[in-house]
Amino acid sequence: LLGLDGATVRFGGRPVLDAVDLDVAEHEVVCVLGPSGSGKSTLLRAVAGLQPLDAGRVLLDGRDQTGVPAHKRGVGLMFQDHQLFPQRDVAGNVAFGLRMHGTPKSETAARVDELLELVGLPGAGRRAVSALSGGEQQRVALARALAPRPRLLMLDEPLGQLDRTLRERLVVELRELFGRLGTTVLAVTHDQGEAFALADRVVVMRDGRIAQVGTPLEVWQRPVDAFVARFLGFEN
Ligand code: ATP
Ligand code: MG
Repeated sequence: LLGLDGATVRFGGRPVLDAVDLDVAEHEVVCVLGPSGSGKSTLLRAVAGLQPLDAGRVLLDGRDQTGVPAHKRGVGLMFQDHQLFPQRDVAGNVAFGLRMHGTPKSETAARVDELLELVGLPGAGRRAVSALSGGEQQRVALARALAPRPRLLMLDEPLGQLDRTLRERLVVELRELFGRLGTTVLAVTHDQGEAFALADRVVVMRDGRIAQVGTPLEVWQRPVDAFVARFLGFEN
């Protein structure tokens, strides 16, 4: 479904994504791990079309996306700081992506209800975003990202601001949800436990490059070098 071919992004001459190659298959859930500043968010933004490449290509279904604007790529992105619109209610936030993707108005309300049901917030459409808990806001952001039914859903620290109990519950729910919808997922997380619970494969990034890609078990049992081992907490 997704292919990165030598994808490179430089800021001030410094490569933040450095010739990254990666393939993500249909229905696969891939989690991206790596230290702060290693280029994880930049990777997602590049795939989404929000960050132009300085070299290399992003391919969706084998088609070069160079010059294809974000809203035409059929991918969804949930931002690190989920960026809900505080002046809109829950339904207004979820519907935002639908309008952008040209869903007819007559279908919007039903789709919003369906999505809120899906993320475990049935009937919350008229609530003010500011009156929701962090976990509820995160679910609204997830519903908004899912709304246009993206074939590829990208999540940047989707559970970042939540406490451990809620994260553990949501990880299980997300896993089930992605399986049911058949969504292909590329998700950034700081939390190894989360990555290992969610992912079919994990990607470990270091300084804009991919240090290792593999199934959680492979990466866990055979870290490819001292950096990955240290990052996974095996050495000090
Ligand atoms: P974190 O885990 O902290 O979210 P990250 O892996 O997502 O980190 P990125 O946000 O991709 O890291 O940033 C990678 C590097 O690129 C960082 O050093 C950052 O300062 C730099 N960077 C990101 N965006 C820009 C920009 N618009 N202009 C200049 N430098 C940038
Ligand atoms: Mg980031």
